[in-house]
Amino acid sequence: MRSRIEEGENRVMEVIVIGAGPAGVMAARRAAELGAKTTLVTRDELGGSAASDGPVPVRTLAHAARLIRETRQLGQYGIVVSAPLFDYSQLLARVREVVDDVRTHALPREDLDRLGVTVHEHAGSVRFVDPHALESESGLQLRADKFILCAGGTSRRLPVPGFELTATHSDAWSLTAVPPSMLVVGAGATGVQVASIFNAFGSRVRLFQAAPRILTTEDDDVSAAVAAAFRASGIEVNESFGSIESFERTPSGVRMIFSKDGTRDSAEAALAVVAVCWVADTAGLNLAAAGVEADRRGYVRVDPHLQTSAEHVFAAGDITGRLMLVPQAVHDGFAAATNAVRGATVTLGDQISPIGGFTDPEYAQVGLTEAKARETCDAVVTLVRFDETTRTIIDGRTAGFCKLITDRATCRILGCHVVGDRAVEIVQVVAIAMAAGMRVDDLARVPLSFPTYAGMLGRAAYRAASQLNLDVSGRREH
Ligand SMILES: Cc1cc2nc3c(=O)[nH]c(=O)nc-3n(C[C@H](O)[C@H](O)[C@H](O)COP(=O)(O)OP(=O)(O)OC[C@H]3O[C@@H](n4cnc5c(N)ncnc54)[C@H](O)[C@@H]3O)c2cc1C
Repeated sequence: MRSRIEEGENRVMEVIVIGAGPAGVMAARRAAELGAKTTLVTRDELGGSAASDGPVPVRTLAHAARLIRETRQLGQYGIVVSAPLFDYSQLLARVREVVDDVRTHALPREDLDRLGVTVHEHAGSVRFVDPHALESESGLQLRADKFILCAGGTSRRLPVPGFELTATHSDAWSLTAVPPSMLVVGAGATGVQVASIFNAFGSRVRLFQAAPRILTTEDDDVSAAVAAAFRASGIEVNESFGSIESFERTPSGVRMIFSKDGTRDSAEAALAVVAVCWVADTAGLNLAAAGVEADRRGYVRVDPHLQTSAEHVFAAGDITGRLMLVPQAVHDGFAAATNAVRGATVTLGDQISPIGGFTDPEYAQVGLTEAKARETCDAVVTLVRFDETTRTIIDGRTAGFCKLITDRATCRILGCHVVGDRAVEIVQVVAIAMAAGMRVDDLARVPLSFPTYAGMLGRAAYRAASQLNLDVSGRREH
């Protein structure tokens, strides 16, 4: 029998979790495991934007883009087929099937039921009416002792005339046909994925970035390599393009008017997708009624225990505006629920967070960029090109590199940056090595399987260890 946490005299603590994305599902599960009487209420379905609008649909479309790329290699390996025909509506049917499968099989619905969590799906937007009471658009009236806000984020609308003529990444996923041309504004993680996917599907894509480089949070070499590969594949990449003045309708789509250094210019396409900023989805929550403070982008302010300015309200996931990724949302959900039920016991420290994008080429990172590492220490940088490793030559995937950054003083790995096939998988290995506090010579000694993509890390680590004059007995570079 699981124990019930008592709040006051003989009363079970009641917890309401708002939003059923990765953060909310984990928070509800954890609060119930700890004995709280838990309710999970969400506007739409279990899974949140992670299942319906973010990684799951994007990864499915990126997989289709990869399959298209792979058909181009068939001749090289002696396989002769006729040119593939691409049916976008059939692909979208596959996306819906995948989303449904993920909801059915990959979400812990049974665990929530077994733990006695009351789940209200399709409740519409929920809002506070007083510090301990909520009402939903569907008419629910709910009360609790503690609340965990997991309402996630949403695309920001820009205050420029004609903005209503533009689309978001979500609209792009639900088009009925591939547009012949597309403007993508914003070259962060979402913008580059939209650009890369629709380029593979045959759209003529023009990417616009206000900053001097795309993917500004990536290592400089990664930004440069992805931009070069995009250009080589036919995407027009416009860095430092200026600022948007307006959008206007044209007979065949939309025109973006922008200006730079006093000079006005424009670009036209069948569709304009704007992916410039992510804000918290807090506008409808009436946080003031609960005494919860948010910043100007709506992100809820939290302390290291994920407690908000209201003592009885915690927050987890994208709504806090920290690292906006699924694994972090899940960690947050666990920590926020533990702290809500048991008192502030779990502190969020710095996490090793591998990040990547499923573009063509893929890119990924963990830890410090070379520039950041050089600001704080004597960094040793080793680079292995994809075209000097066996597996990439076998697969005909020789474009890319793996950059490993090591601290000369401690010999510990500070970061890793990869561009090329399976980049995201490769950095997972480095993330584990970093989390375990391994020195670079420890990594060099691990006989990683041959011939694999991750195997190139052995070579990068061996080179770093050699530069550092470390003994790597037992390891031979292959
Ligand atoms: C295009 C795209 C691609 C991405 N790719 C990746 C990736 O590859 N890997 C990765 O780790 N992350 C990725 N992300 C980020 C990831 O989706 C988010 O970090 C994650 O979904 C955050 O989880 P969450 O639980 O905080 O919020 P969400 O998943 O956004 O869930 C929040 C839920 O709360 C509900 N809600 C909001 N307001 C209310 C209200 N007032 N009342 C009731 N319910 C409400 C929403 O409807 C939603 O169901 C991507 C995001 C996007 C947009």
